[in-house]
Amino acid sequence: MSALVIGLTGGIASGKSTVDRLFRDRGIAVADADAAARDAVAAGSEGLAEVVAAFGTGVLAPDRSLDRAAMRRRVFEDPEARRVLEAIIHPRVRAALEATCANADGPYAIASIPLLAEAGGRAAYPWLRRILVVDVPATVQLQRLLRRDGIDTALAEAMIAAQATRAQRLAIADDLLPNDGPLEALPAAVEALDRLYRNLAAA
Ligand code: ADP
Repeated sequence: MSALVIGLTGGIASGKSTVDRLFRDRGIAVADADAAARDAVAAGSEGLAEVVAAFGTGVLAPDRSLDRAAMRRRVFEDPEARRVLEAIIHPRVRAALEATCANADGPYAIASIPLLAEAGGRAAYPWLRRILVVDVPATVQLQRLLRRDGIDTALAEAMIAAQATRAQRLAIADDLLPNDGPLEALPAAVEALDRLYRNLAAA
């Protein structure tokens, strides 16, 4: 049981997944909001039934799973549809993350929430003891996104612009993990944070 839960966030391609892995390597359970969001509307789930009730069977694939591309098209440029979809998914994600972290073994647990700043921040997640932001300048974010996903600059810039700003993320941070240095510098930075959180858990 972990009473202490740390929220981890950062912009796209800031290095969250890399940091998640380093915490896992240190024996810390990491619950992933993206995975929880997929589970929330998995085939046969109550969440998916609510999505179908709201949007119709047109958002189902032939195998009765959610047709994610169709759903994305439906909420693209329709803020009300997006709000309805998020009202179905977000509470389930929050509950799943909270339960997974509470039941995790280890001195503390991490809830990795890419869109934490966008999805209500601290107010939506009052059970997060601290928020750790993986922080890079937007120029570095863009370079890494281009390299990782092999997409064109216009799409990468649009993906970054669709998210909260760096300043909005920094505003909810208790702890910062600057990641504009070399990859080799990350394990020591994660080790220092791991020490801090173990001390907090023991206190
Ligand atoms: P996120 O999960 O935040 O989208 P990733 O962890 O996938 O980001 O990191 C984005 C890309 O940048 C990946 O290809 C990753 O290997 C690389 N990366 C992460 N940190 C560094 C770093 N400090 N230096 C160079 N590349 C990095």
